[in-house]
Amino acid sequence: MGISSGSCSCGEVEYSYEGDPINSVFCYCKECQISTGSDKWFGLWIPNDNFKITKGNPLTHTRVGSSGKDMNKMFCGTCGTTVCVEVVVGGFYSVAVSTLKAAGELSPKMAIYTASAPPWAVYPAGIPKYDTLPSNLGG
Ligand SMILES: [Zn+2]
Ligand SMILES: [Zn+2]
Repeated sequence: MGISSGSCSCGEVEYSYEGDPINSVFCYCKECQISTGSDKWFGLWIPNDNFKITKGNPLTHTRVGSSGKDMNKMFCGTCGTTVCVEVVVGGFYSVAVSTLKAAGELSPKMAIYTASAPPWAVYPAGIPKYDTLPSNLGG
């Protein structure tokens, strides 16, 4: 609980959220691979109402997700760091754990879209792996 915060690499964009995350997820979908330049995205899911940009004006890139609803990626126009993706279908932001001040205190609860992962992907031990998205998360 309490308030957590983070920022992009250059510090021009800052954000904060309050309350507990809904989920913490390693996503191995192709979009996340391209966006991060690695095998996965580590996202902390924060309900829309609990998240806000507190400094700067991030740019937005919108794509249509597998749900048919928009995925709005928000990134710093100066350093290019993606700070979060607004997942419209779920009503939450997937915050880039790498940009959080408390990144070291977090760990993933599940791995999703592993069917899209490259052969050299690395998985943490002891968490469930899903080929796509578990059905109870709404697709
Ligand atoms: Zn920046
Ligand atoms: Zn993904």
